[in-house]
Amino acid sequence: MTTDTAMLDFTIVPSTTPMAESDRLRAFDNLGFGTLFTDHMAVVQWDADKGWHHAEIKARAPFQIDPAASVLHYAQEIFEGMKAYKAQDGRITLFRPEENARRFNKSAIRMAMPEVPEELFLKAVAELVKIDSKWVPEGEGSLYLRPFMFATEAFLGVRPSRQYIFCVIASPVGPYFKGGSKPVTLWVSEHYTRAAPGGTGAAKCGGNYAASLLAQSEATSRGCDQVVFLDAAEHKWVEELGGMNVFFVMDDGTVVTPPLSGTILPGITRGSIIQLATENGLKVIERPYSFEEWANDARSGKLREAFACGTAAVVAAIGTVRHSGGEFVIGNAGTGMETEKLRNQLTGIQRGTVADGHGWVKDV
Ligand code: PMP
Repeated sequence: MTTDTAMLDFTIVPSTTPMAESDRLRAFDNLGFGTLFTDHMAVVQWDADKGWHHAEIKARAPFQIDPAASVLHYAQEIFEGMKAYKAQDGRITLFRPEENARRFNKSAIRMAMPEVPEELFLKAVAELVKIDSKWVPEGEGSLYLRPFMFATEAFLGVRPSRQYIFCVIASPVGPYFKGGSKPVTLWVSEHYTRAAPGGTGAAKCGGNYAASLLAQSEATSRGCDQVVFLDAAEHKWVEELGGMNVFFVMDDGTVVTPPLSGTILPGITRGSIIQLATENGLKVIERPYSFEEWANDARSGKLREAFACGTAAVVAAIGTVRHSGGEFVIGNAGTGMETEKLRNQLTGIQRGTVADGHGWVKDV
């Protein structure tokens, strides 16, 4: 079921109670991650008879949904994470937004949900950023955008819902990790896994994150920033972190990253890093990399640098890796040359200080 979305215009009803400018600017002085929200949201409805309809930009407010809404019982929910940046010349830009739209629809297909036409997804994002443009921080901060879709039909049978809401909210953010750009410490979960072959690991669905929380709590209780998941079948191969992909930089100029086997999220940062690293003359190899190999390579010095990457933290150097049997350190436990170079290239492109030779940056 599709609607002619070219005809789907957003009704715009500005908030009558926007946050006072002085309060907003005060909040900008101490930006964390995902705790402060803008004045508006984009909302579009879908049902099996009408398809996509009723597109609105309106004041951010709670939803009223039926207690039997299927998302509350069977977790039919997907989301995306992307950012709007304020470039030095004042332009507001998005980084590869159509990649988020495409991944969103792959997630929708996997979760038996309707696809959101790419044009509608991009319009919802752009309209929200435009109306809340004063919420895009300058300097180091950015406006994190969270498109999501959830099942609203009141029905307890186990089958795909016949009603959904697609929504976009926005949150001005500072650094993802409390330590800023300090190298992160990881906890390797040797017991809990994130995704099995044939499961939903490649989809950005809420359930994957619910399943990761206990392992993430274990990481936090061990003094680590993030959890690393191993594969579900053998508990041997490094997959990804709770919310980031992972790269390993070797002393011979090769870079290893786990392949998109269906159990990890195809990160948009991951794809961009593969391209930039290749252009930097590194040889990027997408292949399975075992935890044992990781520990051995770190100890022998073959592994020079490792980093995690994703929209939220962009590129974060990995310093120390803890596991049930002890810990090991990568390089000098600090950040490495290639990691820094890639981080500067990517953040520079995103913020308009480095030329965008790939057409990745889009004006809003
Ligand atoms: N893996 C997981 C599990 C994630 O949640 C994310 C964040 N979306 C990533 C990797 C990185 O993806 P991206 O670079 O598109 O943000």
